Amino acid sequence: MSFESEGDITEGMQRYIDVNNRYLADRDRYIQEVVKKWKFDTIAVHGLYTVKDAIEDYQGSIIEPIFMSTAQAFRDSDEMAAALAYKIPAWCYSRIANPSTYYYEWTLALLEGYGYDGETSCCSTSSGMAAIMTAVQPFLKVQKDVHETRNFVATVQCYGGTYQQFTKRFMQEHNIECRWVLDATDLDEWASKIDRHTRFLYGELPSNPQLGFFDIKAVADLAHSHNIPLIVDSTIATPALLRPICHGADIVVQSATKSLTSSGFGVCGAVIARKNLITTIDDDQLKSDFSLYIKYQQNRDFGPNLHPMQAVMTLNDMRTLRSKMDLLSRNSMKVARFLETHPQIESVQYLGLPNHPRHELAQKYLWLVDAEFDEQYGKPVNRYGHLLSFCVKGGMEKTRVFFDNLQRIWRATDLGRIKSVATIPAISTHQQQGSEARQLANIPAHLVRLCVGAEHPDDTISDLDQALHAAR
Ligand SMILES: *Cc1c(COP(=O)(O)O)cnc(C)c1O
Repeated sequence: MSFESEGDITEGMQRYIDVNNRYLADRDRYIQEVVKKWKFDTIAVHGLYTVKDAIEDYQGSIIEPIFMSTAQAFRDSDEMAAALAYKIPAWCYSRIANPSTYYYEWTLALLEGYGYDGETSCCSTSSGMAAIMTAVQPFLKVQKDVHETRNFVATVQCYGGTYQQFTKRFMQEHNIECRWVLDATDLDEWASKIDRHTRFLYGELPSNPQLGFFDIKAVADLAHSHNIPLIVDSTIATPALLRPICHGADIVVQSATKSLTSSGFGVCGAVIARKNLITTIDDDQLKSDFSLYIKYQQNRDFGPNLHPMQAVMTLNDMRTLRSKMDLLSRNSMKVARFLETHPQIESVQYLGLPNHPRHELAQKYLWLVDAEFDEQYGKPVNRYGHLLSFCVKGGMEKTRVFFDNLQRIWRATDLGRIKSVATIPAISTHQQQGSEARQLANIPAHLVRLCVGAEHPDDTISDLDQALHAAR
């Protein structure tokens, strides 16, 4: 951390700074020489939490600490002054940082940066929506005068909450234009919406619930050619299947609430960014380490912080992310194949199905991480996640009968669970944005979204089958 601050450095402060600089150098060396050489699973299980940390600081606890404490005490005024001037790594106050969120952040920074040959860092947030707000706001700040024109370009196929945040909060309340890309696979459309007032490009992929997709590398190159960053919501893929930063994206937002916390124990989020961003915003701190910038500046002042309890619960779920995403993807493939051939099904959307219009594009990007090192596979394999959607023949009426007859599949506005969950977006997650916006985003009223869990797929299929039978 090398944040500018006012005030002189006293001799006493300097002693703390020296000790902590040695600590930071050791940590960097440990990351470069040890952690960066691990496979994905090892990083997911351990992150930066070491035996040394446990023995020296946490009485040997093999699980990361849950520090349900508001604040950190200091030895003396010199240490306090150095900490509050951001001269030494300290957590100070749980709105800003906390030891539990620290381990959560490092695990996610390393997982999203797996296979990327630069540095990544992460800032935890209280939810996925807070992550999106946190990631986009610094780019929308006024640079010269309050009346200046600002816009950003985003995929219209996105989560309902994102649509609301961009249209209601930014466009209507702050006069910041969001220019929607209707066909994200059309690079010319992206390009036609960028001008000198465009601050960033934003894309969700695969999108929830329509499984929109785009060529990350091409869109990132386009962004960089305009000197602006690409921000990607990669919630549906998780770093086990896709790491957008490896393909040129600058910032990733995660609703860690979803597959990262598959147990469903609570809501949380994260922003992960690569170092040294490309942006027209004139701010060296923002450019050099975006996650630290938002942690120590914007989020300190707005306060969308993550609770330490939730951080460790999510961390615990993330340890088995790779094998879980593999299993959930395989189950989903089997369910999608069943639905595809069912006479009462009008259409199925799953990126793994060869006849899906974006299958080829998804195939280029969605790979099970480290499958080549997996005894079972021994080579790269595509995996497409556990979100799919479909339409039941007979419109909304039959769809509701089918939906109401599901026995074990939960009816809930949720996804990413170890348990199968279904919803009808038009009456739930995407209800607020209205029919016109849903049409833009290509969400028919009778679309059912299904997120397949870890139950045996035969049991999930038989539940779907009997509900379809009831809706004949
Ligand atoms: C759920 C979701 C969000 C919002 O996350 P919360 O944790 O619910 O705030 C954002 N993006 C996508 C793709 C989501 O599915």
